Amino acid sequence: MSVTPFPQTNTNVEPGGSPEEATGPVVLTVNIDANEHHWSDKWLGQEGLSAVRVDNLSEAASTAADPRVSVIVVEASTTDDAGREVYRQILDDVTLRELPLVVFCQDMTQVEAALAAGVADVVRKPVNWQVVSRRVATLAEYCRTQRELGNTRNEVARIRQQVEDSRLALSRQSDTDRLTGLPSLNKFRDILARALCQTNELALFLIGIERFHVINEAHGRETGDRMLEAVGARLRECLVRPELHAPGQTGVLAACAAKLDGVRFGLFLPFAGSQAHLQTIRRVLTDVLSEPLHVDGHTVYLTSSIGGAVSPGDGDEAGKLLLNAEHAMMTVKQRGGGFSLFAEDNGMSSSRLLELDRWLREAVSRQELQVAYQPLVNLWNNRIVGAEALLRWHREPHGFISPAEFIPVAERSGIVVEIGDMVIDRACAELRRWHDRGFENQRMAINLSLIQLRRGDVKRSVENAIDRYDLKPGNIELEISERGAIGNDQRIIRQLHEIKSIGVKLSLDDFGTGDAAIEYLKRLPIDILKLDRSYVSGALENGADAVIAKALVGLARSMNLTVIAEGVESKEQHQLLRDWGCHIYQGFYCSPAVFSDAFIELLETQNSDHSQDFGP
Ligand code: C2E
Ligand code: CA
Ligand code: CA
Repeated sequence: MSVTPFPQTNTNVEPGGSPEEATGPVVLTVNIDANEHHWSDKWLGQEGLSAVRVDNLSEAASTAADPRVSVIVVEASTTDDAGREVYRQILDDVTLRELPLVVFCQDMTQVEAALAAGVADVVRKPVNWQVVSRRVATLAEYCRTQRELGNTRNEVARIRQQVEDSRLALSRQSDTDRLTGLPSLNKFRDILARALCQTNELALFLIGIERFHVINEAHGRETGDRMLEAVGARLRECLVRPELHAPGQTGVLAACAAKLDGVRFGLFLPFAGSQAHLQTIRRVLTDVLSEPLHVDGHTVYLTSSIGGAVSPGDGDEAGKLLLNAEHAMMTVKQRGGGFSLFAEDNGMSSSRLLELDRWLREAVSRQELQVAYQPLVNLWNNRIVGAEALLRWHREPHGFISPAEFIPVAERSGIVVEIGDMVIDRACAELRRWHDRGFENQRMAINLSLIQLRRGDVKRSVENAIDRYDLKPGNIELEISERGAIGNDQRIIRQLHEIKSIGVKLSLDDFGTGDAAIEYLKRLPIDILKLDRSYVSGALENGADAVIAKALVGLARSMNLTVIAEGVESKEQHQLLRDWGCHIYQGFYCSPAVFSDAFIELLETQNSDHSQDFGP
């Protein structure tokens, strides 16, 4: 083996040495004609390369182990004892084939053979070293960057693995959440398991804070951390609130609050086994979490999703109970927040659900369900332009049961199709009544459930009602909620297009509560967008909500959509919505939903007395 370290002055190459003597990239030449040495040294040297010369494959393999070897140059005619070309063996060798290979060929037969074997750089002799050295230098540079890239990739993978390992190790070891000082998930699971050994009557709640990233983005992570600390402190206080504990309970109480991860908390309490106790827990937890947080001079209203499971009914073992509470929490999340118990979402085990289902069937057959109308008001002239039809159900002796509670039950049993058809018919009959009273331009917004679209024939019901009451289709708006998972359900999307072809308007309800708001705008044939009331109620206090809402309104306007803001309760909100560029509002600031006669009275008052306009 002969080595030619450069300085370029060294043209007198003698065998011996090793790549260690070289300073820059090394070109490994195998059995190159001695007559070429002078020129190769000169021109390679000018490119900053050193040549290391070897005579056979085994020397080549051992020398190429040096990381500075960047290119191999070999005579095509060099063969091993068995007569097989060395370049073919280089191409077969796992390590050597990683290096760029240049083959010198005597004639076209050799050129063709080398190309056919897969050699990319073939040089026909006589060699022009000036040109070849340039090419070799480029290959050496390529080789270097590839190696660096490979090293970087390996390093990144190694660091990732390290981080992941330590994260796992930490989460296994650490019992306490750094921010809140509350037990971590693993610890919580242990405590819950131990508690379940002592008593089998516990109520477990998992709590997720919604859209917390908005708070982090608006106020910074540190303030976000302080807010999570504050939530942790509130939950810890819940543990000692007497009204939360089972009445008459004495002795050791099993109760614990925990921060499970990111923005999820857990809490369990002794459970008295009664609906009344669950209702108290529901009220207190909801109140505690919806009270504004004041941190670092900011006031923030949180939205939370609380999912509960009670033992022994929903599981008498920690894993199952946690799983079921999580299931309940995920269900609530899909609705954009709130409170739910596992049993409520999973039917058959819940007596309340069965009861509600039975009552609802009775109510439908006895025609106890009523429709009320909430005014839609033009934000700019404060005149009522129509109404949203909202179901009302009064059941003696229980009082009003909210549609937010019974519609999901009706959806599960499918009776929502029948109820929905009834609302379409009644609302259209009502609209005819208003038109007959001279309120010709009033329009009617009707809520649709996805189940109606899946199982019913909404188009036919709407067409029938329009014919029956001789209405203009353009005066009917059908609302579909962004919360329902329309996803990419082509059947529903097709149906919506068909429904629109009658000439009715489509409105996207609860806009901004799901993850797919903007996607829906692209895919669905929407005319109207109803900004969810959480933005309206949060906007004055929460800068981030305001920024997002304003951007959503801007986007909708740029798509020529009409924007309706829901849940307007104050003069300040009314003004803000004008500033954002909304068109219509709905909310207690004008009126809650009222029954037919009261609505007509509102219209008549408005007509007779302009000072009665519903605005500032
Ligand atoms: P939604 O479509 O978002 O209806 C608006 C809800 O906000 C109504 O509650 C309304 O009374 C309430 N609301 C109106 N203005 C204000 C305000 O200024 N402040 C506050 N805090 N709330 C206000 P409601 O009537 O309890 O309805 C709840 C939900 O039940 C509705 O939400 C809708 O999703 C569903 N729903 C109601 N009627 C029907 C129906 O006929 N069919 C279907 N499928 N769903 C219905
Ligand atoms: Ca609605
Ligand atoms: Ca809504």
